[in-house]
Amino acid sequence: MLSITEIKELLATPQKIVITTHHKPDGDAMGSSLGLYAYLIQLGHHVKVITPTDYPQFLHWLPNNSDVIIYADETERAAKFVSEAALIFCLDFNTLNRINELGELVRASEAYKLMIDHHLEPEDFDDYRHWSINACAAAQLVYDFIVNELKDGAMINKDIATCLYTGIMTDSGSFRFESANAAVYRIAADLIDAGAEHWRIHQLVYDNATENRLRFLGHCISNKLEILREYNTAIISVTKQELNEYKIATGDTEGIVNYALSINGIKLAAFIIERSDKVKLSLRSTGDFPANEICKKYFDGGGHRNAAGGVSSKDLPTTVADFKNILKEYKTQLLQ
Ligand code: 5GP
Ligand code: MN
Repeated sequence: MLSITEIKELLATPQKIVITTHHKPDGDAMGSSLGLYAYLIQLGHHVKVITPTDYPQFLHWLPNNSDVIIYADETERAAKFVSEAALIFCLDFNTLNRINELGELVRASEAYKLMIDHHLEPEDFDDYRHWSINACAAAQLVYDFIVNELKDGAMINKDIATCLYTGIMTDSGSFRFESANAAVYRIAADLIDAGAEHWRIHQLVYDNATENRLRFLGHCISNKLEILREYNTAIISVTKQELNEYKIATGDTEGIVNYALSINGIKLAAFIIERSDKVKLSLRSTGDFPANEICKKYFDGGGHRNAAGGVSSKDLPTTVADFKNILKEYKTQLLQ
């Protein structure tokens, strides 16, 4: 393992650095990555942010977004940067299968691997770890890494602040989850002081949807929502055909599951969606109910206690039926 002193020494001279994050990156994945990017380029490093796949349009306004390389689109170019890197930062994920094929390239690389993450059960592939499951976002840990580990808080400029604020805002449900404690609000205040325009960031992320997205949301709530009162559970499942009908793009389905959870008494909400090659599940829960346990045990996935995901190789109706069956096992907890 690298010590923070060794990292400081490495960062004292210009290095080739890759920052990567999980597939289908969300606001925290992109915010933490581009926040760290804006910091490292200030220090004079040669930095590339490489994402395994594309990400939602509502994140494309982030500072330095045009410098991001999408591995799925520019495989060879991305692979070259990974093989030449001296340091690889792994942000907002902790198992290499979360970055698809890129994972094997990272594993094979001789670069130092630095993990900054807030998910459970990290895989042992890293040379340095700034990790806490108590952090509300990877962006919070990037802030902490720069300010408290590297003692370089003076370098936090408007770009860094904007990106890190975005990560914290999106992963904390706009500061409403339990993880958004007083320390998080203090960090947010610090980022606003450093130039993050909180009102503008919120608008760009949340009031930036297509008409189709809103109509699709209406369809999901009016026609697809199933409430299982006997399990305090709500399910929304959608077919590939429905996604095509509403021209649903990457990111357009994000957040829909929260509407199901907003119903009085609902403890568990599932958004189950038919993708081209698999069925994807997105679970949200309230209180102590472990949504991640269901994902880990039955759907080859995981995540946080109250926000988790997984996949099924069965068809959509079978996956929904499987899910309903699994609820029996959790009935007592769901009715508590
Ligand atoms: P979402 O429902 O927004 O896709 O994912 C919520 C959270 O669940 C993510 O932040 C991530 O921690 C976790 N998650 C989602 N999908 C998967 C998956 O396929 N595998 C694992 N291990 N975690 C997932
Ligand atoms: Mn995150």
